[in-house]
Amino acid sequence: MKTCLIVDDSKVIRKVARHILETLDFAVVEAADGREALGQCHAHQPDVVLLDWNMPVMSGMEFLRALGDETLAKRPKVVFCTTENGMAHIRAAIEAGADEYVMKPFDRETLESKLQIVGVA
Ligand SMILES: [Mg+2]
Repeated sequence: MKTCLIVDDSKVIRKVARHILETLDFAVVEAADGREALGQCHAHQPDVVLLDWNMPVMSGMEFLRALGDETLAKRPKVVFCTTENGMAHIRAAIEAGADEYVMKPFDRETLESKLQIVGVA
């Protein structure tokens, strides 16, 4: 079973994403901000991280930059979640280390196809 770390400051979004991922047979762990997510990466070695952009404490972009400096046995794939579809915004996330992005709100089919693109579904 593969593990997905959901990082979002919205409890509602984490709940919706967890439900979808569990129907796709993922083990799910959660974090409410980037700093908590770094700890979860060390504790659970997730296969993939579903990453929000705007969060208190440590944003998605700051998390991506910090992840690059971490010593992890396995680097997770990162699917970036955004409500903005500006190409500059998406390019900045990809340049910072994101593997793919998904527009919010996303449904099961969309998320599954993104997870297939990054090779974890
Ligand atoms: Mg947010």
